[in-house]
Amino acid sequence: MSEKTIFKKIIDKEIPAKIVYEDDLCLAFHDVNPQAPVHVLLIPKKEISSTSDIAPVDEPLIGHLFGVIRSLAEQLGIAADGYRVVSNCGLNACQTVPHLHFHILGGRGFGWPPG
Ligand code: 5GP
Repeated sequence: MSEKTIFKKIIDKEIPAKIVYEDDLCLAFHDVNPQAPVHVLLIPKKEISSTSDIAPVDEPLIGHLFGVIRSLAEQLGIAADGYRVVSNCGLNACQTVPHLHFHILGGRGFGWPPG
């Protein structure tokens, strides 16, 4: 069996994280290396490696995650001014953890195009 990802270890409470939201399907916690005043990661508890690995059966889960993102943006105080949601997928996008995650970034202005 392949080794657990760092995010699976956080789900299993084997390593600590600053959790801001949890339900049966997902977990949100502060990024250890924040790139903005607010930088939270939202992950499904189901082990999906990346956006490329989302199956049709996962579509209700993905919808749920975006509902949680909307609520979290309010809870984190970034909804009014705007925020960015990012999911890096694969090598070119610099994905480092092979467990689907959404970065929720806010509290400052962001440039476009992204680097
Ligand atoms: P990626 O580069 O895969 O899109 O994003 C992975 C993110 O996970 C990075 O922003 C990185 O800072 C964060 N990260 C990596 N290891 C840990 C950890 O142990 N705890 C937390 N809270 N974040 C982590």
